[in-house]
Amino acid sequence: MNSKKIQLEKLNQHWQENCTCKLKKTASRAVFGDGNAESEIVFIGEAPGKKEDEGGKPFIGAAGKFLDEMLLKIGMKREDIYITNIVKYRPPNNRDPEQSEKEACNEWLINELKIISPKLIVFLGRHSMLRFFPTEKISEIHGKLLIKNIPELEKKQAFLPLYHPAAALYNGGMRETLIKDFKKIPKILKVLNTNK
Ligand code: URA
Repeated sequence: MNSKKIQLEKLNQHWQENCTCKLKKTASRAVFGDGNAESEIVFIGEAPGKKEDEGGKPFIGAAGKFLDEMLLKIGMKREDIYITNIVKYRPPNNRDPEQSEKEACNEWLINELKIISPKLIVFLGRHSMLRFFPTEKISEIHGKLLIKNIPELEKKQAFLPLYHPAAALYNGGMRETLIKDFKKIPKILKVLNTNK
């Protein structure tokens, strides 16, 4: 079996050619997931913004800087995690991705998650949460560890929903809540690793 990194490269190559997402027409490029393919933790955001569309990597703008600060607070770096988006192309003017765009990129995301098979998936914002918990509200379940059987992933998966760093960046209350929720990650990973 090829390494996870090589499997991801092949996956990205395939979907870059075959993805039917209509945002392909307006975006500069597909923004692939990035980071450590062997990580036990995967973060899922919404869609690339302007900086990501230009630079070709997820979370390299202001929200990404804030994310890096929070990672540092829990003793982690970007190289320790894997990070991706539910939609791989930038929506014009950073509007919310539409359902059809999420669906067009869905198989790409699911295959990414199957290759990495993380212990914990962290949702950054409601769009990625809605993919797996379509009836929940981020304001009600943020910071709570959720375990759910996901047939497409062929396993019981642990999830931690968090507010999106871009939404929390300039909102004092939400920012504090996000930082507090984020600090739960090391303990959650420890629990997941002891309850194998
Ligand atoms: N916001 C996201 O959800 N994803 C990115 O890659 C950048 C900003």
